[in-house]
Amino acid sequence: MSEVDWSKLIPKPRSKFLLVQCNECGHRQVVFDHAKIEVKCLVCGATLAIPKGGKAKILGRVLEGLT
Ligand SMILES: [Zn+2]
Repeated sequence: MSEVDWSKLIPKPRSKFLLVQCNECGHRQVVFDHAKIEVKCLVCGATLAIPKGGKAKILGRVLEGLT
């Protein structure tokens, strides 16, 4: 058995997933807070998060952080 490099498998502490509610339709969606691409609401297409040099800017309403 080879050794597993856990540092590559476990996200860094500052990265996390957020439960974001769409401002337009109220749909709730999980968004990675370091998203590298624009995240859109799956229901209405409104932009929920935009990448901003590392941490994404969340445009929707953040309901809670998930780990
Ligand atoms: Zn929506």
